[in-house]
Amino acid sequence: MKACKQCNFIIKNDNKCPACGSTELSEKFSGIAIIFDAEKSEVAKYLGKKSPGEYALKIE
Ligand SMILES: [Zn+2]
Repeated sequence: MKACKQCNFIIKNDNKCPACGSTELSEKFSGIAIIFDAEKSEVAKYLGKKSPGEYALKIE
């Protein structure tokens, strides 16, 4: 798995972020936040995300 350096989105089988289109991905990340309902999620507010998905908490 890789995480997008731009938006933290976690990518499983791709070399491009499906969320923002960036190709700057990192294999070194820690922590995964899964957002199901961005409008109600405290994690989504904390991370500043508006769409559901899996996000890395920290990218090195
Ligand atoms: Zn992205």
